Amino acid sequence: MSYDDQNIFAKILRGEIPNVTVYEDAETLCFMDIMPRADGHCLVIPKTPCRNMLDASPEQLAACMKTVNKVANAAMTAFNADGITLQQFNEAAGGQEVFHLHFHILPRHEGVATRPPGKMGDMDAIKSHAEAIKAAL
Ligand code: AMP
Repeated sequence: MSYDDQNIFAKILRGEIPNVTVYEDAETLCFMDIMPRADGHCLVIPKTPCRNMLDASPEQLAACMKTVNKVANAAMTAFNADGITLQQFNEAAGGQEVFHLHFHILPRHEGVATRPPGKMGDMDAIKSHAEAIKAAL
């Protein structure tokens, strides 16, 4: 399977479509998921192309994990969370829908289920959740 540079996250990286950025460094970008399954649901991606974990380089994976660690700890503080669910899907059969490597960070609270997938979030709420994570970084 080859990398398709028309995927939506490649377009975000090129600035062709907007995103709500939480954090970025030279190698990674973290932005809010527009269909959040929990308040503060955000995504970490490498700035260089790869489809998913299967074709990622050790450097891309290491850079993403460094950012996941940083943002997840900030999200724990920002949402007074009890835990974090980290999700990552590989190929359609593995649940992947966007074919640029990404890690989902979901702040979690005891006894609170995640919301169902595929439902657009409220953009004002999403932006305020991004600000809360940024303030905790
Ligand atoms: P998956 O490939 O299954 O990990 O799912 C892709 C994720 O990307 C889903 O959680 C979508 O809600 C999210 N998503 C799709 N388009 C955008 C977008 N333009 N901005 C932010 N998140 C998106």
